[in-house]
Amino acid sequence: MSNSIKINTKIPGPESQRLMARKEQEVPNAIYNLTSVFIKNAHGALVTDVDGNTFIDFSGGIGVLNVGHTHSRVVETIGKQANNLTHSCFHALPYESYIDLAAKINQLTPGSKKKKTMFSNSGAEAVENAVKIARYFTKRPALLSFEHGYHGRTHLTMTLTGKVAPYSKGFGPGMPNVYHMPMPFCYRCPYDKKIETCGYYCADQILEYFAKNVDPETVAALIFEPVLGEGGFVSFPQPYIERLAAFCREHGILIIADEIQTGWGRTGKLFAIENYNLEPDIIVTAKSIAGGMPLGSITAPAEMVDVIHKGGLGGTFSGNPVSCAAGLAVVEAFENENVLEQADQIGKSVRARFSEFYEKYPIVGDVRGRGAMNAFELVLNRDTKEPAPDAVLQILSFCVQHGLIVLKAGTYANCIRTLMPLVISEEALNEGLDVLEEAVKAVNSM
Ligand code: PMP
Repeated sequence: MSNSIKINTKIPGPESQRLMARKEQEVPNAIYNLTSVFIKNAHGALVTDVDGNTFIDFSGGIGVLNVGHTHSRVVETIGKQANNLTHSCFHALPYESYIDLAAKINQLTPGSKKKKTMFSNSGAEAVENAVKIARYFTKRPALLSFEHGYHGRTHLTMTLTGKVAPYSKGFGPGMPNVYHMPMPFCYRCPYDKKIETCGYYCADQILEYFAKNVDPETVAALIFEPVLGEGGFVSFPQPYIERLAAFCREHGILIIADEIQTGWGRTGKLFAIENYNLEPDIIVTAKSIAGGMPLGSITAPAEMVDVIHKGGLGGTFSGNPVSCAAGLAVVEAFENENVLEQADQIGKSVRARFSEFYEKYPIVGDVRGRGAMNAFELVLNRDTKEPAPDAVLQILSFCVQHGLIVLKAGTYANCIRTLMPLVISEEALNEGLDVLEEAVKAVNSM
């Protein structure tokens, strides 16, 4: 029995409670907190709060810390870079680390064409830029995304997102020319079919979708997450994605892979799209790209992006030198530290445990994922699949009380997902999974 977890106070402890009371005075209520503990420091997959309690982190700052909290290479690089230059604006005074990281990403992303990469400050901004590139190149207005998908909180990206509350509720109007396709989500099939007998009916419905909703010749791009993140870790059936990609190619619709949550090793491949053997036109990443520093990347074929007039893309902070240096340190970690193998190993352990949860606890309705991106759904009844979001809240609360930080997901807020740093030790992983099992067991017997 290992013991990474150290809980010395009631949770939240007195200092966290004091800070939460201040937060309520000073920060808008809409800025929501998933946990009630305030963090003081973190390393690897362990975080310590302001009251001295140590937790195992299965959230990784929502998928940002694939190489771990305060990774030594990343921290050293940030320190050195910060001593030399924190900002000049790449448009005003360029610096080499921007080019170095772009070159690395051009080389590492799938695709045989000559590619170019630019940077943004965040994931949503990366998606915005990908759409600008796609619209400019195709001269077409319309965009396709998926129900249950998530792409960000700006006006365009909240419109692309296939879940209303809390993201776009009350913030409309959204952007025009955005169409949501039904997600081929096998556990909750939009066509009420069963995977054993459906013959990929969803793929047959692609033509029907366009016939009813939008002229494909007006569509600039399809944007999708290779595995839905916020939507609950749902993968696409391979035959569906192949048929849809073929349809897009036939009609000149560009394919944008949103790898913001799936990218940088989460699924055991550097980019999750590699699991489908599909070459997207544009790839966007963010989150784990820079080990905790804010950065997004947009990678597109040179022939596509270089038609855009000079000055058409960019931003003051985009590709900040400290973020780019941190990104290079993350790439070095992937090149030298077996992170992808770790992701596979974590995935195997987590899936084996989640499958056991499914066998033991009827409240677990579905277990799914790829590599180290795994989730399970909680349902009130396995036949009706009625979501159990309250059970999820109880699990989250039990876990934090017992030293584990874990996240929910899903359109019905009834999934538990894991985004632990890929450098987590086997002992800490198992200790965290034991806490999670205790939590599931407790809600199962309520
Ligand atoms: N796309 C996906 C798939 C994401 O998971 C997220 C963030 N959860 C975003 C876009 C938006 O990224 P950001 O919060 O950095 O704007």
